Amino acid sequence: MRTRIHLLVALSVAACSNSGSGSTVPGSGGSPGTGGSAPPGSGGSAGSAAPDAATIAPGDSSSPEDAAPLPNGGQEYQGIVNLVDPALVAQIEAVLASSSSTGDYSPVTQAFYALYPDEYDFLYLFLDHQPTTAESDATFVVANRPAIPGTGIDTPTALTRFGSRGRLKGVAGFQGTSSADSLPALAHETMHYWGNYLDPALGFGREKDYDYGPHWGLTGVYGQLGGFDPSSVVCLVPDGAKPPDCTLDPDRNEIDYETSAFTPGTNTFLGLVYAPLELYLMGLVPVSELPTSFPVVIDGRFDGTVATIAFMVGTGIGQIATSDIVSRHGSRAPAADSDKHFTAAFVLVTSTPAATDMLDRYVYYQQVWGAEVTSLNGWMSFGYHTGNRANMTTHIGRRRTSADPAPVQ
Ligand SMILES: [Zn+2]
Repeated sequence: MRTRIHLLVALSVAACSNSGSGSTVPGSGGSPGTGGSAPPGSGGSAGSAAPDAATIAPGDSSSPEDAAPLPNGGQEYQGIVNLVDPALVAQIEAVLASSSSTGDYSPVTQAFYALYPDEYDFLYLFLDHQPTTAESDATFVVANRPAIPGTGIDTPTALTRFGSRGRLKGVAGFQGTSSADSLPALAHETMHYWGNYLDPALGFGREKDYDYGPHWGLTGVYGQLGGFDPSSVVCLVPDGAKPPDCTLDPDRNEIDYETSAFTPGTNTFLGLVYAPLELYLMGLVPVSELPTSFPVVIDGRFDGTVATIAFMVGTGIGQIATSDIVSRHGSRAPAADSDKHFTAAFVLVTSTPAATDMLDRYVYYQQVWGAEVTSLNGWMSFGYHTGNRANMTTHIGRRRTSADPAPVQ
C-alpha cells in the first residue's frame, strides 16, 4: 500500500505507509541495509536482542516517593513507561487507521503528562500489536513548532491539547513491530518535524500521477523520507548505459531506469542516515554542504523494489537546483544549540500490563535510539543518523510531583 496523504496531513501530520511498493516492508523484519531481502516478520538474525539489551544497561527508577502509582498495573521499566488503558490503545489505533488528520493522540499524551513533567521534545507511543484497521505503520503529529525560514514551515504550530505547555515538539505513534529485531521507524517519523514541507512546485514528493506528501518521491535525495541514490541510476536500455544515454521506448514514450533499492515514501528499511538535504532542513549542515542540484524523474512513476534493485519510469531526468530551494524559501539558519539536544519518552501503551518480553523489546529500542547501547543488527541511534551533529536522550525521567505545573487540559 502506498502512502496516503490528505492535504491537511501534509501540513501537520505525516502518515507513513504500511510498505513501499514492491516486496519490502520498511522497518519490519531483519536488519537494515539488506535491501528488503528479509521477508516481513522473518525475525532477522538468530537470537533475540531485547533480553541482551536489558542486561547491558539496566535502567534505574528516579521516581520520587510521593509520585502517584501508575494506574491499571502500568509500570515504569528500565527507561520506558507502560501505560495500561484499553481506551488509549483504541485512540492510537484510531489515529493509525486514519489517512487524514482526524485522529488525535491527545488523550494518550494527557495521560502521560498526568504522570510526568513537561520535559520532553518528542513522545513516541507504541502499540504492542499490528491493528488490522491500520492504514499507517506510524503517524507523526506536530505539537509545537515555530516558523522555520528556509524549510517551507511558514506558519507556527502551538497546540495545547496534548498537555504540554510548549516544550513538546511532536508525537509519533507506531504499530507494534513484527519482531524484536526491527526498530520502529523512529528516524523517519522524527524527521517529519522538519520535513518535507518544501514547496511541491520545486518537484519533490510528486510523481506523474501520485503525490507522496512530505516525502522525497522520485528525487535523488536518498534519505529517511525516501528518494533514490543518484549514483546508482542506470538505463535498462541500452543495458549498462547511464542517463542521459538511455533509449526511449517508442511505443510507451517512456524510459526505464534501474537504481539500487529505495522507495519514494521511505528508506527506513535501508537504515540510511539522514541525507544532506534532511540535515540542512534540521539546521545541522549549511547549504554549502548540499549538492548543487537533485535529480528528479520527469513524468515519473515508481515501478517497485525487488530485493536490492528498484525500477522507475519517466521521460527523462531533470534537476532541482539547490539555489531554487533557497530562492523559494530563504536560507535555513543553523540550528541553535537548544535545537541539537533533544529528549524523548518511550511510552508502550497496552490494554493489559505488558509482559516482560514485550517490555524488554521496547527498552531495547529506547536504548538503541538514545545511544545507550551499541547498535545491534545495524539499527542505530538518533545521534548516529545526524552524523553526531545532534543527540537525543531517551531514558524516561522523573515522575511529576505536586511541585510541577499541572498539564494544560
Ligand atoms: Zn513519512
